[in-house]
Amino acid sequence: MIDIGANLTSKNFQRDLPSVIDRATAAGVEALVVTGTSLAGSRAAADLAEQTARAALYATAGVHPHHAVDATGDWLADLRALAGRARVVALGECGLDFNRNYSPQIDQIRCFRAQLELAAALRLPVFLHERDAHDTFTGILREHRTSLPGAVVHCFTGTRAQLDAYLSLDLHIGITGWICDERRGRDLIAVVPAIPDRRLMIETDAPYLLPRNMPSPPRDRRNEPAFLPYVLNAVAAARGEDAATTAAATTATARAFFGLPA
Ligand SMILES: [Zn+2]
Repeated sequence: MIDIGANLTSKNFQRDLPSVIDRATAAGVEALVVTGTSLAGSRAAADLAEQTARAALYATAGVHPHHAVDATGDWLADLRALAGRARVVALGECGLDFNRNYSPQIDQIRCFRAQLELAAALRLPVFLHERDAHDTFTGILREHRTSLPGAVVHCFTGTRAQLDAYLSLDLHIGITGWICDERRGRDLIAVVPAIPDRRLMIETDAPYLLPRNMPSPPRDRRNEPAFLPYVLNAVAAARGEDAATTAAATTATARAFFGLPA
């Protein structure tokens, strides 16, 4: 398995990161993409991916819509430099979040467009975040789609119509432990079989979104990449496949999407 989205630079992992990575490897996670959500966070993700010999770690470099308001001055030049770092395999996390609106929407849109243009210039795929902003997000993406080598909507939790809109833009879809929640995940379970093999990837979004189908969840509720099999199993069950089939397909798709060595 490949975990395409793990926030390993989170302070929640500071105390035991080496064992978190070792547990992931032991659980069958053969590569991990560490999510960058700010300039400082992306720098930390790139550092971590370069310094860690314990597992195949990669990183994204980007500014999350929550942090768009901080994208001022030379931020784009700084991001361009980070995107050129050795283990950086995608631009992002970028996109729109009109649920929280931690940054004004006008800043989110400016920051999103700038990162799509940078990704196109650098020929990097993008790692995308969208919440309660589907129409605006899709409209902006449509303008840029042909110049982007690839794009994944991470933590997809939308409707069938939204999924169809994303697939018609030839986007990849990342599924998290949201699908493990019997109540909240019900709609997602119904639409996941409609995602083609070559567009489907899995992720933990650790330390967030602890899978609800764990028989004995950790007391601190912290999610970690070693719990990716719970996501895998829920995705496989939704698709009526055995887990090995889903694992092989999502791993091959992730390697191709991010250009990871086999
Ligand atoms: Zn996100």
